[in-house]
Amino acid sequence: MSKALVVFSGGQDSTTCLFWALKNFDEVETLCFDYGQRHRIELDAARSIAEKAGMQFTLLNLDLLKQITHNSLTDQAMDVEENKPDNRPPNTLVEGRNMLFLTFAAIFAKGKDIPNLVTGVGQADFSGYPDCRDEFVRSLNQTLNLSMDYNFTIHTPLMWKSKQEIWALSDELGVFDLVRTQTVTCYNGIKGAGCGHCPACQLRKNGLKSYLKQKA
Ligand SMILES: [Zn+2]
Repeated sequence: MSKALVVFSGGQDSTTCLFWALKNFDEVETLCFDYGQRHRIELDAARSIAEKAGMQFTLLNLDLLKQITHNSLTDQAMDVEENKPDNRPPNTLVEGRNMLFLTFAAIFAKGKDIPNLVTGVGQADFSGYPDCRDEFVRSLNQTLNLSMDYNFTIHTPLMWKSKQEIWALSDELGVFDLVRTQTVTCYNGIKGAGCGHCPACQLRKNGLKSYLKQKA
């Protein structure tokens, strides 16, 4: 019996990963993090998608992150940068987020004897987030195995996929409409198509446009 834990946020990428995991493993559950993100609608979307898919949903509180690092996803006083700066990652970067999420996920998973961890990070549309890179994930996988003397495998089905290809995958998995209407990717916290102009919406929208064009 193969078991997997999906690091889940209710966004396009992790939702696609969740259905990828359901196809590839016998038992799947989800772990979601409250890190003090300004839009609670993300957590509601995550819970509702997991429950509708009949999966166990666990929410962990990590809002201590807000105390030690500042970024526009948790700090209400900071505006989300609409354009990616040339010389540094955008202010939507939450330092260490993926490392912490995967580390907490691993601790949680080992306790349930779940060796497979699934995360939706990717570097095809490289956003400037260092902890979305393949090299980082492989390095952390090794560190987690050493730290807990356990054989985890971190799966990153979207690592080399463009947004267009991620839309194609959700269609292939039969969840295109669910992803299109029920997920929250928007930095301004609007479900589905979102605000349309923040960087996350632009990526999502352009990918969708290319996919629909390719499909037509
Ligand atoms: Zn948006």
